[in-house]
This record gives sequence, C-alpha cells and structure tokens, in this order.
Amino acid sequence: MPLPEHNTQSTPLEDRLKKLISLHGPINLATYMAQALGDPTHGYYTTQTAIGRKGDFITAPEVSQLFGEIIGVWLLAQWQQQGQPEPFHIAELGPGRGTLMQDIIRTLCTFPQAAKSLRIHLVEMSDSLRQEQADKLAPVKHLITWHDTIDSLPDAPIFLVANEFFDALPIHHWIFHENRWHERIIGLNEQKELAFGLGAVRDLVPHHPLQPSEGSIWEHCPMADAITQSLAAHLATHGGAALIIDYGYLDHAYGDTFQAIKDHAYADPLIAPGQQDLTAHVNFAALKQSIAKQQAASEADSETNALQVATTTQGEFLLNLGLLQRAGQLGAGKNHDDQEAIRDEVERLAAPDQMGELFKVLTITKSDSPIAGF
Ligand code: SAH
Repeated sequence: MPLPEHNTQSTPLEDRLKKLISLHGPINLATYMAQALGDPTHGYYTTQTAIGRKGDFITAPEVSQLFGEIIGVWLLAQWQQQGQPEPFHIAELGPGRGTLMQDIIRTLCTFPQAAKSLRIHLVEMSDSLRQEQADKLAPVKHLITWHDTIDSLPDAPIFLVANEFFDALPIHHWIFHENRWHERIIGLNEQKELAFGLGAVRDLVPHHPLQPSEGSIWEHCPMADAITQSLAAHLATHGGAALIIDYGYLDHAYGDTFQAIKDHAYADPLIAPGQQDLTAHVNFAALKQSIAKQQAASEADSETNALQVATTTQGEFLLNLGLLQRAGQLGAGKNHDDQEAIRDEVERLAAPDQMGELFKVLTITKSDSPIAGF
C-alpha cells in the first residue's frame, strides 16, 4: 500500500499517525487522543506550554489563588473530620504547572499540625510538567512523590484533588446508525488527510438508560471509569476524601463534546495533533456509576466501607465554602484596582455565565458527618 504523500504543514505526530493508518487501517478516537496528548516525544502535554495566559487555556487555579485556598480549606476540614490521620497525605491528579498545589499547601501550612505531617503525591504523566511542578514547589520538594498512576499511592488515608484532569482522558465515540452502534474511527480521506469515519458494528449497550436515536453519539471514557473505581476502592479501604472538578454534565446525555483548543480558541481536533489541547466534557453520572459499582462489588453496605458521594456546581461549592469572605479578606487594605481585580476573579470562578455552572464538583468522602459533602 503506498504511503501518503508527505505534507510539509503537518506535525511529526500527524505524519506518524498517517503512516500508521495507511499501514494498519483506521484508529479509534481514544488511540488518537491518547497519542496526541501523551506521546512522550510529540504529545501536547509533553511538548507545549499549554496552561496559562501564554498557553492555550487558563484553568481555575491560574485565574485566582482563591480557588486553591478554598480547596485547601476543604481538604483540611476532611482531614480533621477523619481524626487527623498522620502522615497527612495529600494528592493531586494532573497538577499542571503546580499552581493549585502551591495554593493548597500555603493554606494547609497555616495549621502547624497539618504542616508538620504533610506528604504530597503528584500523579503526572508529563516529564516537562513534573519539572515545572518541582520548580514551583521547590521549598517542599522533599515531601513530594511523583506517580505515573494512582495505583502507587500509599495504603493510607489520601486527601485528593483533580482539577481539569478527567477531561483530558481518552474517550471513545459510539454512533447509533441504522439501529446499531458503530465506533467512530479516524482514517484518511481522498486527500490523505485525517478524517472521521464509521467503524464496524459492535454489539453494545451504553451504561445508561437513555434511548438512542439515529445519529446519537455516546461518549465513553473507560479510563475515567477505571480511575474512579480505583479511587473509590482506595478511599473505602483506607479512608480519605476526593474532590473532582471539571467541566461536564451531571446527568447522562448523548452528544459530541470532543473539542480542540489552540490559543484560547476552538480548533479542528484532527488538525495538528500534539500541538493543540484535546478534551471532552466529563460525564459525572458515569463517574458516580463507577463508584456505585465499586461499592456494590465490595458489598459496602457495611458502614465501615461506605462512601458519601455528592455533586454540585463549582460556583455553589466555592460560595458555600466562603469564597466571598476570603475574597474580602484578601482585598482588605488593597487599592481600588487590586480590589476590582479580585472581584473579577471571583466572578470568573463562580458566576453562572462563567465557570460557575459549566464546571461541576464531585466529592467522595469516607466520613459520614454533615459537612462530608461540602
Ligand atoms: N490541574 C491543572 C492542570 C490541568 S491540565 C490545572 O488545573 O491547572 C491536565 C493535567 O493532567 C496535565 O498536568 C497533564 O499532563 C495531566 N494528565 C493528563 N492525562 C494524564 C494521565 N493519563 N496521567 C497522568 N497525568 C495526566
């Protein structure tokens, strides 16, 4: 089979994927997404300055220190509720530039008991981001352990946060066509460019009760399900709490949310793999289902293993935990412009038309006290 002509505009990863497809046939969306984001040489998170004003997108911790401070307060409250188990293991999935962890640690360290027993665990796949995290967290570097996956976290209570991590996990698209489910695949069109197509029929039943119609797209993220189940098993067995924050939806739905972002604007996800961010909205109903599955499997009706699970919006979560009061404290004594800037940050994080409603929060806690959720 002839190889496609070399396109001088394409990225190294695009060339490699095109060769792979021309030799072995189309790939599925999850393979494409995993390679585009995670390839050790050409992947987006390993090669690009993705996050921040100079990057392609800005995340909540990059908007304001208030975000990490409120999360720090939540983690501390959970730790106290569970009797301050020592060491105080805190963990973050996908810590990006380390900004959120820096704000969390600053908050926790105002409590001497927490400061003296702190251990930090960062689950990060990108070597360049690990380096950035090490630089940013240099004063506490001796307390940090990096992990490839959550499976190597210590067998102990863990207090964990994941912000904009699950949206980067590879998804599959299943398309309902003529009463059968087909996997959406990526092949080459007549111009030898990457293009979507319909793969072979699969005998599938989506893990939710919605009736599909012609053209329905089911987004399935097996890696999110697997990580959530492991996390739930860890918390049920060892204790601790987890806070998952991401843009997404609370009820099952069909639809295509796969998207590319480059320079703060939407882009074609099949162009320039490795050079633009690829994400999909997080299905929080599926995450909850994974926790329920883990609970059922471990017969967690016994009180010792039961987990409390709750969902809300980012706006509600932050406001309930005192965002406005903390913003007032931060602005006290500052000049008018600084106070305005803080007000803008609060709006950005919590207003319904900004991040407040699009972003959702899932809490998983071992404790059954009234403040366990948020
Ligand atoms: N939480 C940060 C960064 C979000 S970007 C913030 O809010 O600013 C996504 C992060 O998850 C990056 O650090 C990326 O390298 C990491 N990541 C994505 N997929 C991963 C995986 N499968 N395993 C480990 N880390 C991953």
